[in-house]
Amino acid sequence: MDVRGGALGRAGALIDNAWTTTRRSLPVVNPHDGAVVGAIARGSVADVDDAVRSARKGFVTWSTRNGRERAKTLRAVADGLRRRRETLARLETTDCGKPLDESAWDVDDAIGCFEYYADRCERVFGERAYAEEVVELPDEDFAGRVRREPLGVIGLITPWNYPLLMATWKVAPALASGCAVVLKPSEEASLTCQVLGDVCVEAGLPPGALCVVTGRGDEAGAALCAHRGVDKISFTGSFRTGQTIMRACAQDVKPVSLELGGKSALVIFDDCDLEKAVEWAMFGCFWTNGQICSATSRVLVHENIRERFLARLKEASEAIPVGDPLAEGCRLGPLASAAQYKKVTSMVNRIKRTKIHLLTGGNRPRARGCEKGFYIEPTVFVDPPLDSEAWREEIFGPVMCVRSFRTEEEVIAITNDSEYALAAAVITDDVARRERMASAFDVGIVWIQCSQPAFTQLPWGGRRRSGFGRDLGVNGMDKYMHQKQIVEYTSGAQFEWYPMFKKS
Ligand code: NAD
Repeated sequence: MDVRGGALGRAGALIDNAWTTTRRSLPVVNPHDGAVVGAIARGSVADVDDAVRSARKGFVTWSTRNGRERAKTLRAVADGLRRRRETLARLETTDCGKPLDESAWDVDDAIGCFEYYADRCERVFGERAYAEEVVELPDEDFAGRVRREPLGVIGLITPWNYPLLMATWKVAPALASGCAVVLKPSEEASLTCQVLGDVCVEAGLPPGALCVVTGRGDEAGAALCAHRGVDKISFTGSFRTGQTIMRACAQDVKPVSLELGGKSALVIFDDCDLEKAVEWAMFGCFWTNGQICSATSRVLVHENIRERFLARLKEASEAIPVGDPLAEGCRLGPLASAAQYKKVTSMVNRIKRTKIHLLTGGNRPRARGCEKGFYIEPTVFVDPPLDSEAWREEIFGPVMCVRSFRTEEEVIAITNDSEYALAAAVITDDVARRERMASAFDVGIVWIQCSQPAFTQLPWGGRRRSGFGRDLGVNGMDKYMHQKQIVEYTSGAQFEWYPMFKKS
């Protein structure tokens, strides 16, 4: 794929290891200037049906390969991504607007994720296609085993904020477990997932083990959820779509796992290094142009350092290099799409009208190159009421809300007072307090002395409206497997339950 040309994207779906041609398409828009730079296929119900049929065949082949063979292919996928690192990073930035350095980071993480699950796959399955454990039973006439086998065909539905990485977080462990997958990336950013498809074919994945159907959520996505040939849906996206998907899957009691939104808190105590705290607060909310599910967009700062914190935050936020995300050194690019721009700016304008104090931002940046695209300044509101939209709703843009607090009890209560429960972070030099906060935070992810780092080796996910199930980690393959118990009667003797079979 040519990154500079005006014709990015594939006009078909990846089915049976070949790209089909579809009549309908969706535009690829560069969020930097709103220009249409290509097109992707708008997959239909029939495309999804073809993909699922292909995946069912792919499952038969792929699931019978042993752990060592699967690991070899996954390592070849990692190598293929590595060879295309620069192209992938530029495509990602062109498609969703994240600064180029961040896109390159995402590609590295995706490579690491495939390598990690190649290792896990080899360790868990070895020379077998499944994992098996002997279980001690209280009856010596019987022997018991638990076999963990791949679930089958998994529908993967992913968002646009980390297009390649969120897909990889699911594709790598699902393939490692022996499942076949049908990936439906976000219609707002599918280019790198199409390249992932090419890479998997090159790496020797058998036909159907990975199918990619691009298109709209309410068409291709909904068709995948409703399809009887899909054994599970693994979804990352918004709370509302998560609800719709869960409802759709309930029809057949199809299992789902949901990684949804958040409104996470960062708590900063007065015993910390202020410079470090301000930088983590900015990174925690402005990274990925503020479009992070785990963004610590609620910042709680101890009242003793409030004024100094706000002054430094304002000064530093206004100095962030904003502009063309392909330009060297850019640290904040445009929002990913026109729809996202409209959503974020209308929310910001609504908050402005409530008279909540605007510390900085809230407008289109004045920097050169930001005239046309979906740009908004890093924005900070101060003291929004605890029941306000600003404080409670996920904005999904570079918009931070700051409040101050006095006591530990108070700040724990405020942190946990959210319908979401994805992440929470604390910055304090008091080691005992760090542990108290880690225990008190009612979330799936806790950061201490930082905000946002994500590692393939650790489980990722939230609670309540942030969803359930976990991506990644040592047990990351578990959600793509089921447990089968195998019981064997090992005694050679007659069972002798019925009198006519009694021997004595
Ligand atoms: P979204 O819910 O609008 O879309 C996500 C995916 O769902 C897309 O592929 C879309 O096409 C599809 N979809 C939409 N309607 C559908 C339907 N009816 N049936 C099936 N599929 C459908 O989310 P988004 O705007 O792409 O992403 C932003 C959201 O994702 C934010 O809320 C963010 O917090 C969340 N997110 C969560 C995590 C996490 O790990 N918890 C990570 C990244 C993003």
